Amino acid sequence: MRFATPSASSGECRPGCGACCIAPSISSPIPGMPDGKPAGVRCLQLDEANLCRLFGDPRRPAVCERFDHDPELCGDDRDDALERIEALELAT
Ligand code: SF4
Repeated sequence: MRFATPSASSGECRPGCGACCIAPSISSPIPGMPDGKPAGVRCLQLDEANLCRLFGDPRRPAVCERFDHDPELCGDDRDDALERIEALELAT
């Protein structure tokens, strides 16, 4: 599964989006969340600017490394991304 944080047409994540760190469930342990996180719950490692505190840290779950921009999933803005990822989560 691909998750995403977009920027309309550049093919790169939208800075400060963080939708991938809220909408999907993550089963891997995360510092502060040893059982991972349920869908729709904000990751404890997502900071106030919606950036990952663990970027470059080996404790960052491997699945997070695979978050990638996907125009269909990321939509037009962050709210769009949250809705689309949530819908995908419910469908799978
Ligand atoms: S560990 Fe970082 S990249 Fe992974 S869900 Fe949490 S904030 Fe997002």
